[in-house]
Amino acid sequence: MENILEVRHLQKAFGRHEVLKDINFTVEQGKIVGLLGKNGSGKTTLMKSILGLLSHSGEVYFEGKELDVKDTRAMNRIGVLVDTAFFEDMTAFDNLEILMLSTPHRDNSNRKRDIMELLKFVGLEENARERVKGFSFGMKQRLALAQALLNGPKLLILDEPFVGLDPLGITLVKDKLMELCREKQASIIFSSHQLAEVEELSEELVVIEDGHVKYFGTYTDLARQNKEYRIIMDKEVTLGMLKSLNEQGCEVQKISEQQIRLSHGEKTLDPVLFCLHENGYTICEIIREDRPLETLFA
Ligand code: ADP
Repeated sequence: MENILEVRHLQKAFGRHEVLKDINFTVEQGKIVGLLGKNGSGKTTLMKSILGLLSHSGEVYFEGKELDVKDTRAMNRIGVLVDTAFFEDMTAFDNLEILMLSTPHRDNSNRKRDIMELLKFVGLEENARERVKGFSFGMKQRLALAQALLNGPKLLILDEPFVGLDPLGITLVKDKLMELCREKQASIIFSSHQLAEVEELSEELVVIEDGHVKYFGTYTDLARQNKEYRIIMDKEVTLGMLKSLNEQGCEVQKISEQQIRLSHGEKTLDPVLFCLHENGYTICEIIREDRPLETLFA
């Protein structure tokens, strides 16, 4: 599958504060990728850097070519919901029309129809002629999404698109985003600090922490890696035994005299049990205790 977006060694600092130290990931065509990280971990900074709204070092490739923000045709193919601002005294319809008319190379021959279709798509058709300043936060989010969809983008970059939406609004937007990916093979990268939001919409995750990509892969693999086991034995676990297990690449911690905790136990549970048995331990109990994935992002 072709990569629509590729981020390589992206770094961004504000003065001495290195927010992004070395960010690498890819987004395949037609895929939805959730960008997760705690508040302040740099999600918005990353999106703005990708879009050239912030200076940074490292490379960003879009459809196989280094992204040049002056390349208006390439930029038209990217829909953006990051810090969206509106003409508050104008109607939703007029906001979209102004944006359309100011988009270079856009075919505006059917613009009235296109605008109404977009407003319908985000559930705002009834509000087309209302001024934006009277909109709720959730309505503004949906209008921002309509703006992002204006040029039929191949890639959508959405910063916290569900913030401020009520449960119905969240379902509507999620369904619409999935429809776009399915039917138009569009790709989406969206940020969130809530795992549940990401889990429903995307199978792929990029988790950022301390300026690095802490995890890039599928949700299923992450859940698998997160398996933890508590192993209770018939006698005290010696430090020598612990050291030997850790040296073999098993992440083991002693939690009481006769108990150890094994992290990332998907592949290491069997070797650990074997090793304990070989060394004369009898296993009394094995308790699976998966770490809640939320602890990664809370
Ligand atoms: P997130 O989107 O994950 O909540 P941000 O990208 O907004 O995180 O912020 C990451 C860090 O960068 C924060 O510590 C924030 O204070 C800092 N930061 C963001 N923008 C600026 C800026 N323009 N000037 C200085 N520091 C900034």
